[in-house]
Amino acid sequence: MEELLLNKDIIELKESSTLWLNTLVKEMRQKGECVYHLGFGQSPFPVHPKIVEALRESSHEKDYLPTLGLLKLREKISEFYKEQFNYKFNPDNIIIGPGSKELLFQALFALDGTVIIPAPSWVSYGPQVNIRGKHISRILTKLENNYKIRPFELENLCQTLTSKQKILIINSPNNPTGTVYSDREIKDIVKVCKKYNVIVISDEIYAQIDFTGNKKKGFFHYYPERTIVTAGLSKSHSAGGYRLGFLASSKEMSSLIKCLASLVSETFSAVSAPIQNAGVMAYSGDSEIMEYIGQCSKIHRASGYYLYHRFISMGFLLPKPGGAFYLMPSFENFRKKLQKKYQIFTSDDLSKTLLSEIKVAVLPATDFYLPSDWLCCRVATVDYNGAKIYQESLKSKVLTEDFIEKNAPNLKLACDAIQNFLA
Ligand code: PMP
Ligand code: GLU
Repeated sequence: MEELLLNKDIIELKESSTLWLNTLVKEMRQKGECVYHLGFGQSPFPVHPKIVEALRESSHEKDYLPTLGLLKLREKISEFYKEQFNYKFNPDNIIIGPGSKELLFQALFALDGTVIIPAPSWVSYGPQVNIRGKHISRILTKLENNYKIRPFELENLCQTLTSKQKILIINSPNNPTGTVYSDREIKDIVKVCKKYNVIVISDEIYAQIDFTGNKKKGFFHYYPERTIVTAGLSKSHSAGGYRLGFLASSKEMSSLIKCLASLVSETFSAVSAPIQNAGVMAYSGDSEIMEYIGQCSKIHRASGYYLYHRFISMGFLLPKPGGAFYLMPSFENFRKKLQKKYQIFTSDDLSKTLLSEIKVAVLPATDFYLPSDWLCCRVATVDYNGAKIYQESLKSKVLTEDFIEKNAPNLKLACDAIQNFLA
C-alpha cells in the first residue's frame, strides 16, 4: 500500500494540551485514582435552568440557519454588549460560530499579516496560526509586569516586522495568568497599534468573570476601526459544551465579516438551531441569569484568591488574579531543590512529576509559549462541584478561605500535597 500522505502543516500537530490532559485525568479517575485536577479550565456550574429550558423548547428547530447566525441572537448580543460593556456592535457585524475557538481560527485564516501574541498566552493561538503555515511572533512578558505586554515592547517588535499589517491577540482577563489589562494600559497599547497598522483580536471570553468590579472600556472602545472581539457562552454561562461563540467588529471591518460568512458557508454552514435559540435566552439580559453569573464569578474570585494566598505563603511567585479562573505560579524559588531531588529542569518535567508523585494535574508553562526551562505551570481553579458550592454560597455573606476549604476540598488538598512535596 502507498504511504498515506498528510498535509505538512498539520502533520506535527498534537491534540491541544488542555483537552488532552482533561481526557487523561478523566481516565485516571475512572480507574479509581484520586487526582487533583488543576489542569483544565471548564466552569463547573450548571447552565442556568432558563437557558436549559430554552434549549429544550427549541429542540424541534431543524432548519439550517443563516451563515452569520440567527438575527435575533445577533440582535440580543448587540443589546447585551451595549448594556454591559457599552460596545456598539451592529448585528450585521456579528457572526456566530461553534465556540469562539473556531471563529478565532477562521479570523486568523482570513486575515493577512504577522500574528503577535504575548508569552504566556492561551495554548491554541499558536497551533491555529501554524495550521495556516505561518508562525507567531512572541513578546516575552515579565512577571514584574504581571505578564502583560508593555507598549514599548510591542513597538520594538513592530519595528522589526516587515509585514504591512499585523495582528495582535490579547486575552483579558487572561488565561493562563488571571491578570486583567486596565483601560490606561489598553489606551497605550492602542496608540502603538495605530502607528504600526496592528489589528487587535480582543479575546474577551472571560470578560464577565472580572473580579475588579469596575466596568472596563476595552479595546473595542478605543480602537473600534481595527478591533475584533471574540466571546461566547463557554465561561461566563458555564456552557463550554454548547459550543456557542461569536465574533464582532465594526463597519470598518465589514469586509472581514463578509469573508468569514463565505468561509463559514463553505465549512460548518451554521451553528445548530436549538443552541442558537438557547443563546437568545442567555444574552437576553434576564436579571436572574445575570445574578447567577455574578454569584458564580464571586466563587471564581474566592477560589482564585484562596489558591493565590496559599501559593504566596508557600513561596511561589505569581500575579494576583483579577479575573478568569487561572493562576501561573513560578517555582523558581525551588529550582535547586527540584533539580537535585527530582531531576526537574523544565516545566514539562515539573508538570509530569507533580502528576506522577502527588496526583496534581497542571499544564506546563511551555505549552503557553514560555521558554521550556522556566519552572512555571498553569493552574486552573475550578476542581469543585459547581452545583453544590453555588447553593452553599447563597447562605454565606462572605466567601472566606474556610468556605473554600469546606466546599472545594480538592483545592485545599492539592495545595497541601504541593506543600508537602516541596518540604
Ligand atoms: N480563548 C481562551 C483564552 C480560552 O481559554 C478558551 C477556552 N475554551 C477559548 C478562547 C475558546 O473558548 P470557546 O471555543 O469555548 O468559546
Ligand atoms: N480553555 C480551557 C483551558 O484553557 C479549555 C478548553 C479549550 O482549551 O478549548 O483549559
